[in-house]
Amino acid sequence: MTVYNFAAGPAVLPKTVIQRVQKELPNFEASQMSILEVSHRWQPIVDLIDDTKARLLDLMHLSNVYDVLLLQGGATLQFTAVPLNLATQFHRIGFIDTGHWSQRAAAEAEKLPQLTAEILASSREDHYQQLPVWPQIANKYDYIHLTTNNTIEGTAYHTVPTTALPLVADMSSNFLGQTYDFTKFDLIYAGAQKNLAPAGLTIVVIKKQRIQQLNLPSMLAYSELAAKDSALNTPPVFQIYVANLVLQWLADQGGVEGITRINQRKAARLYEFLDQSQLFTNSIKASDRSLMNVPFTTGEAQLDQSVIQAAAEAGLMNLKGHRSVGGLRASIYNAMPEAGVTALIDFLADFEAKHK
Ligand code: PMP
Repeated sequence: MTVYNFAAGPAVLPKTVIQRVQKELPNFEASQMSILEVSHRWQPIVDLIDDTKARLLDLMHLSNVYDVLLLQGGATLQFTAVPLNLATQFHRIGFIDTGHWSQRAAAEAEKLPQLTAEILASSREDHYQQLPVWPQIANKYDYIHLTTNNTIEGTAYHTVPTTALPLVADMSSNFLGQTYDFTKFDLIYAGAQKNLAPAGLTIVVIKKQRIQQLNLPSMLAYSELAAKDSALNTPPVFQIYVANLVLQWLADQGGVEGITRINQRKAARLYEFLDQSQLFTNSIKASDRSLMNVPFTTGEAQLDQSVIQAAAEAGLMNLKGHRSVGGLRASIYNAMPEAGVTALIDFLADFEAKHK
């Protein structure tokens, strides 16, 4: 039985990458040492870190006006680090509330002394089933924060909103999963454990001119992290190595543009099935639907549970929706093969036919 992992994160990685990790694991670059045991000061690892950063900027079509920081602490630590580093003029951040994770980002910023997190627009009243109308924004915020893909609710921005203010994005759940004009952002952050690597690595892509010398705790100070080339303390070498392999794989898929076309095709097929189904529904506004996370439901908690269980028995794993919304959710990140989406649609159609 072929198993497909539809988890929201940690999530599926490309099979060929896993196989390469397995092959190279005992003997990294003919050193007779494993990647699991080598120092970040060893030249091949210094080169690996540099190469990973270069590949990332290349795939995002960003010049060296940007720097890449390879960090730990997850996207969650960036909820604190970004305000500390960037909200230094107005001490005021404008948040676009598109669901759970944007609320979490605002709540963490609000905890910081002398800092105001203001919700400028929210689709809460629509149960986050669409993105809010983009607001008029006064010029009194250090930046506007948005969550490009809402992992739990299943919405996403498909173009970068137009604003005169600096934009910061939490791209955790669609990082390198769809094309954007990345130059429109001053800072992009993402936990790696959806589209890029195992958990334990966090990516920050930042416009160099936004890196300021500030008296912050070292592990939160972008200036110190950047000056030490992401090795201010011991970096997660294994995660960076896997990220590097995933970036190579992504280049083979035609880069972010190539994978976007594949992801659009996968998502379109799944939404098309759900829209014609008499049993399953996805209630997200069509133009705001995520390419990565597809929540759906039968409308009955018990029946949803039966679907999840029967799916797992058929090798379709981790389809349970987030505990805050229930139902089902299929996460179909970059590494989910089209065959996985086909298997899911076939299974759901079959389940529906049997439950008429
Ligand atoms: N933002 C978004 C959009 C997420 O999906 C997640 C994780 N599910 C987070 C932030 C938190 O990420 P981390 O666990 O890396 O802190």
